[in-house]
Amino acid sequence: MKQSVKMIVGNWKMNGLAADLAQAEAVRVSLAEAPTGNRVGLCFPATLIAQAAGRLKGSPVEVGGQDCHAAASGAYTGSVSAEMLKEAGASLVIAGHSERRAGFGETDADVAAKVKAALRAGLEPIVCVGETLEQRDAGRALEVVTLQVAGSLPESLSGRAFAVAYEPVWAIGTGRTPTVEQVAEMHAAIRQAQVERLGAARAPILYGGSVNPKNAAELLGVDGVDGVLVGGASLKADDFLAIVRAG
Ligand code: PEP
Repeated sequence: MKQSVKMIVGNWKMNGLAADLAQAEAVRVSLAEAPTGNRVGLCFPATLIAQAAGRLKGSPVEVGGQDCHAAASGAYTGSVSAEMLKEAGASLVIAGHSERRAGFGETDADVAAKVKAALRAGLEPIVCVGETLEQRDAGRALEVVTLQVAGSLPESLSGRAFAVAYEPVWAIGTGRTPTVEQVAEMHAAIRQAQVERLGAARAPILYGGSVNPKNAAELLGVDGVDGVLVGGASLKADDFLAIVRAG
């Protein structure tokens, strides 16, 4: 008997042209034929959001962006605002993915500003946190991640819909995953940090990092894991659907 609704979200990263939306269509068709009790979302590159939203309209697949600027509009060449994502048809947005923290120098304060922007636009943010291998090897994983939670979750999240994704940097795209004990320990620490920051918050806490059809059931079964954020394995409908149905 299924215990709870899981949140399964795919992150296509900088992958996908219009033709690849056939994979998203396949997810839609499969979920129409055999519905799941889980929440399902796909975060597309900004260029595909409007098309994806049109093609997934009326389906249970929620559409998300992968990042947004903190401002609603302005002289920020190349950036996309939360309002633009919302108008294009998104309902979710990822904030603070480690590829943005590391590659674009985003701080916890930057992430918190993006989360506020998401709320302003009516998007549900998925706030990513996670330690590097160096930090874990130094025994600092819990400290680093709980500080990220405190710094990346603005007080205005209180009472609003959002999710946190625990994504150890060393597990993203590497095929490596933490042990179930490490995941459970971190999710409990994130839950506590979230409650300390926002009060009795019950936002889902997702695990992300090399989730695939083979390990999804085990990871989704870990105490405190309310869903998964899936990168590479979300690009192919069959793999993504296997994960959606594993929870
Ligand atoms: C991610 O980018 O959020 C991610 C978890 O990637 P992957 O599943 O490919 O490790």
